[in-house]
Amino acid sequence: MPEHPIINIHGHLHRGEDLKKLVNDMSKTGVIKFCALALGKQLYEKGYYDNDLVLQAMKEFPDIIVGMGHIEVGGPVLDKPEKVEELKELGFQGLKFINPGAPYGHEKFYPFYEKAEKLKMPIVFHTGVVSVNTDDRIYNVNSEYMRPFSLDPVCRYFPDLKVIIAHPGEPYQQESLTLIEFHKNAFMCLSGGSGSDFHINKIIKQLSGIENADMKNLDENFALFYLKKCVFGTDNPPASLWYRQSIKLLDYFKIDEETRQLYFWKNSANIFGWNIKP
Ligand SMILES: [Zn+2]
Repeated sequence: MPEHPIINIHGHLHRGEDLKKLVNDMSKTGVIKFCALALGKQLYEKGYYDNDLVLQAMKEFPDIIVGMGHIEVGGPVLDKPEKVEELKELGFQGLKFINPGAPYGHEKFYPFYEKAEKLKMPIVFHTGVVSVNTDDRIYNVNSEYMRPFSLDPVCRYFPDLKVIIAHPGEPYQQESLTLIEFHKNAFMCLSGGSGSDFHINKIIKQLSGIENADMKNLDENFALFYLKKCVFGTDNPPASLWYRQSIKLLDYFKIDEETRQLYFWKNSANIFGWNIKP
């Protein structure tokens, strides 16, 4: 059990899972808030929770489960911008965007961003390569539309919108890092790749600074600099796995306690405007 709370800003629920047991396991790992990201029709059919199911889970476990509503911005049936207000009224505190029919930065999506900014609903954006499914053509799935840098105009034109860049954005990881460096309200969640060692090692490689770096120096230990804008998220694996992998990463880069607190919960609490006293 960690000495600090954990906010999981990016998790999914799967049909058939024992929700009560899952919530128990999360609490044991120290998770005080679990942002459950709803998904659209394509991924609902693969077993993920959609808006309706996430709404039920929020009602069942209102203290821990935070609903992040899905907006359909790709595929054959699209949502209207008013969907943002509807989700807010239902109690969703944020949104999830994935598989858009055009790059995230396309102006046709601006009305969604404008509403989310006004309603203070943070958006978790899937970035980079996305898993492959046989029905991808029906839904116009194209990882290129989720290239991290397509979020640059979103951050620029909607400066108060909290943007969470989910996954390092493979193969454009440096674009994600550049966005969190330049945009005050852009953050990055490191989840992905089932939290495997392979995934973690790719992140380590990406965050590595100069050779023989002074690990306390932000100009030399790049990870220390970037991790101040990162947030804890799990995607699909259990929180306990991502907690272990996070500690491995933080220890590898000799990350100080203050930055760990930002990563595990403080950044996320600020993103949502939650007043949490550990
Ligand atoms: Zn996800």
